[in-house]
Amino acid sequence: MPITQAEASRLARRTGMKQEEFAVMNDGALTLLNNAQTRACVFLLTDSADLNAEGMCSVYEIRPKGCRTYPYVLNHEDRAVLDEGCPHRSQFPTPPEGMDMVLLNLEERIVREGSAD
Ligand code: SF4
Repeated sequence: MPITQAEASRLARRTGMKQEEFAVMNDGALTLLNNAQTRACVFLLTDSADLNAEGMCSVYEIRPKGCRTYPYVLNHEDRAVLDEGCPHRSQFPTPPEGMDMVLLNLEERIVREGSAD
């Protein structure tokens, strides 16, 4: 999950973790790391690598904006769509009006910050 520098700073401040323990630069975007065993986000409380396993976000109240807007993602035409990789996408409505712009603005901010490094 790509995140902004401000979100990384907030996560570091609130969890007491160092940024490099939960995020790396990946293709010009600061991105949350996955746990080596579960292959899920390092903040997901789970013991299983099963995509359908129960899990709880340990930073839910301060989760990054990309987590709040997921499973809406941009397609190759910059339209918000439901992520085909999300096993729960059928539980979500079609993207609400304005979601394209929300996701485009977030992407622009993350890419701008990534290219400033
Ligand atoms: S919602 Fe929480 S567990 Fe899921 S990707 Fe975001 S930070 Fe990680």
